[in-house]
Amino acid sequence: MIAVVGSLNLDLVAPVPHHPVPGETVLGGDMAQHPGGKGANQAVAAARTGGEVAFVGRVGDDDAAAVMLEAARGQGVETTHIRRTPGTPTGRALIAVSPAGENTIIVSPGANARLTADDCKAAGDLLRGAAVTILQQEVPDEANHAAARLAGGTVLYNPAPAVEGAQPPPHVDLLVPNRTELAALTGASAVPETLEEVTAAAGGLTGAGAVVVTLGGDGVLLVEGTASLHIPAFPVRPVDTTAAGDSFCGALAVALAEGRALADAARWACAAAAISTTRAGAQPSLAGRDEVEALLAG
Ligand code: ADP
Repeated sequence: MIAVVGSLNLDLVAPVPHHPVPGETVLGGDMAQHPGGKGANQAVAAARTGGEVAFVGRVGDDDAAAVMLEAARGQGVETTHIRRTPGTPTGRALIAVSPAGENTIIVSPGANARLTADDCKAAGDLLRGAAVTILQQEVPDEANHAAARLAGGTVLYNPAPAVEGAQPPPHVDLLVPNRTELAALTGASAVPETLEEVTAAAGGLTGAGAVVVTLGGDGVLLVEGTASLHIPAFPVRPVDTTAAGDSFCGALAVALAEGRALADAARWACAAAAISTTRAGAQPSLAGRDEVEALLAG
């Protein structure tokens, strides 16, 4: 079993001719809504690539809650530990997309911000029994800390979105940042770009057993103590890299839960993430297991 502790957001996406400045009203195109949030995306990424997945999180008591729960269940994600929060809106992300494809995003965490350590304790049996528990930074630290403490298997911590000065909980086995999130973790003013800079920055992190830095089109870098291994990205033609990191985390958890060694699991997850970049959107773009196997088989 894979446990995902994290956020569920309803993404509200509107095309705009340009991004509004303060005081300005911009007429946009038709709004679309999609299930999103890093937690929900990673849970779906894991379920699609063959994982048995249960979610720990919170939704509100509005219509968006039903949309989010139904979307998770529709992907086979177990939702008994998703609590409804009276008097609170479900998390939403308001996304404006310009003709150049640039996004501005307002995340309104709503119920996600109400996830507590007690919620995680109530899911204690799940967390103790899970082969892998995945955490991100869209729910309160106290929930992540409690989940990491309770987790019986591998704890995978994705420090996303980047939060300046954020500290991963103790008991993390695997840290999975991208370059920007790595810079936020180390407090560096500049984002590490070259493999040498990334290796040095990741090597300076203590506390986690291993660090897997995702490098977009450059693949991933595994850093364990003084050893490092670069795994190149799969050559694909990307059209939209939204949720590539979520795709990677979900698939990595599946591969680890199946007992693969870290390097092999990371390569498997790179295949899943590469496929997700070839399609538009977040959850709709996530890879299925057969596609991952087909890409790996060449
Ligand atoms: P995030 O979405 O968190 O910023 P990255 O951009 O680092 O994460 O992407 C996560 C993973 O997705 C990468 O490690 C890589 O395996 C895969 N990926 C991302 N962009 C590409 C690309 N252009 N081509 C192939 N794989 C990609």
